[in-house]
Amino acid sequence: MRIYLSVDMEGISGVTRWQDVIAAGQDYQAARSWMTADVNAAVAGARAAGATEFVVEENHGVEMLCNLLLDEIDPEVDIVRGSPRGGATTMAALDDSFDAMFLVGHHAKVRDYPGIGAHTISYGDYADVRMNGRTIGEPEMFIIAAAQHGVPCALIAGDDVVCAEVAKLVPGVCSAIVKRALSHTGGVIIPPVRAQRVVFDAAVAAVECVRNGTVAPIEFDSNFEFEIELRKPLSDEARTVIGQRFSEFQILGDRTLAFAANDMQLAFRRAAISSFLANTPAAVRYY
Ligand SMILES: [Zn+2]
Repeated sequence: MRIYLSVDMEGISGVTRWQDVIAAGQDYQAARSWMTADVNAAVAGARAAGATEFVVEENHGVEMLCNLLLDEIDPEVDIVRGSPRGGATTMAALDDSFDAMFLVGHHAKVRDYPGIGAHTISYGDYADVRMNGRTIGEPEMFIIAAAQHGVPCALIAGDDVVCAEVAKLVPGVCSAIVKRALSHTGGVIIPPVRAQRVVFDAAVAAVECVRNGTVAPIEFDSNFEFEIELRKPLSDEARTVIGQRFSEFQILGDRTLAFAANDMQLAFRRAAISSFLANTPAAVRYY
């Protein structure tokens, strides 16, 4: 059994605030170690239950998506690291060769209070990200992208808020709740060593669910209509560049970019590039 494991950082055990997941933060180096240990726990649990191959994709957008500690990670996994990645900056390794997807260290969607580190794609720039009229988070985008390849999401590891979000989307998904959110920057934390036991046990259960067929790729409608509501109004320069060179984007009002896609990897790329279009429009060459 082959597992695709997407790892982000805000939902890692022990991580509590934004400063824990950026290079300047007091606990960033420790958080890299916790992140690696949560991945190892998921891999060990899945392996104990019979999974044999693992591709771990780094999806935390700090330091060009290089955050795992390679000297500490399970030596039998393959790792997708760094960027760009020849197209999608996330989901680059996700294809139909996998039997299941694990989401480890993922976080709640933007506006989902109290979710620790809750945001969708851009913590600083996006006030809301809507798909077909409702707020969407990164886990749902991954879950739909996996479903496009016929791959079910079997495990979510993170705080109680993101686990509840994913449980609503994916009946039967296994959850590893490693902390209980009290605010975007505070929570009740299980120390990482104990949290890793929770992740291990959930990964064992997840592989059993895959084997028994009790988790399935979700149903979805592939007419994805996105709106990215920015925190700040678009500059005149951004409006001009987008209007002249990026006809796939529409500008709604003073701070919202809209686009359509019928492929979730493309939608994710467009959602991600929106912050660059808003902040450094002249520098955006491709995506
Ligand atoms: Zn992240």
